[in-house]
Amino acid sequence: MLKEKILQFVTIICFPVFLFFILLNPGTAYAKKLRVITTSTDLKSIAEYIGGDKVNVESITKGYANPHEIDPKPSFMVKLSKADVFIRIGLDLEQWAQLLIDGARNSRIRFGEPGHVIASVGVDLQGLAVRGGVMIDRSLGDIHIYGNPHFWLDPLNGKIIAQNILDGLKKNSPKNAHYFEENKRLFDKEIDTHMVTWMEKMRPFSGTSVIAYHRSWPNFSKRFGINVVGYVEVKPGIAPSPAHIANLIKRMKSEDIRVLIREPYYETKIPKFISSKTDATVLTLPTSVEGVNGVKDYFGLFDYIIDNLVSTFIEQGITPND
Ligand SMILES: [Zn+2]
Repeated sequence: MLKEKILQFVTIICFPVFLFFILLNPGTAYAKKLRVITTSTDLKSIAEYIGGDKVNVESITKGYANPHEIDPKPSFMVKLSKADVFIRIGLDLEQWAQLLIDGARNSRIRFGEPGHVIASVGVDLQGLAVRGGVMIDRSLGDIHIYGNPHFWLDPLNGKIIAQNILDGLKKNSPKNAHYFEENKRLFDKEIDTHMVTWMEKMRPFSGTSVIAYHRSWPNFSKRFGINVVGYVEVKPGIAPSPAHIANLIKRMKSEDIRVLIREPYYETKIPKFISSKTDATVLTLPTSVEGVNGVKDYFGLFDYIIDNLVSTFIEQGITPND
């Protein structure tokens, strides 16, 4: 009888009280995960792969938004104020990031601290200019002054990004080092497996010339063998003039260029106008994970880009090489 009473007491009183405190104070298993904030969805996808169930990752930017320009909302500062790790592309892509870090007042994630991870360390930057030891070239445009920051669009650079993320996570959670290292090994293996398929799909179209809106593609085109021979923008971040558009149309006609790649965050009016004069297809390609519906992770991003490029080339009657 006494035993039953004790059991009843435990079930009716103690358990709900225990549950109440767990919910009220998530200072247990859930909160032990590293709180990671990334500047992009691509970094989020890779950080989730490496961090697995030891991390909670959130991206500041949406995959369909222009990564060069975001409105530094106070809500982002609140998120950063609680972060253990902040992961950024680096270069000048996130010119808005410093404002958020200053506003967050979180010493863990300041530049130079273990919680501040720069994903571009060790990447071979396309279009990098070094002058007097300072890596700046304003002749490249208003943005991209430290080199091309869209390097994640080469899957092999994904491995370097993953390495930087791995190093960052290990510093902030040494006890999970082996777990993160194993995930990195699997990530590299998965990239290598996908690369075989992606290269096979693209190989027949090696040397095909296309136009793009923005200089997002130097790393992608170098890896997969297409030629981006002109841009809608005059320079990165600088809108086209009528004369520039007229020259572009002339060139597309004379060189028989049939595809214009548009990133989802650029306007459609000028690409449509160019298409009406040249019969080129305007192909909207995401530059980031979640950039269009269905692109859920870093591998899916390349699946989407490559499948849509290949089908557009075929629709346009571009003959595959042998
Ligand atoms: Zn750019």
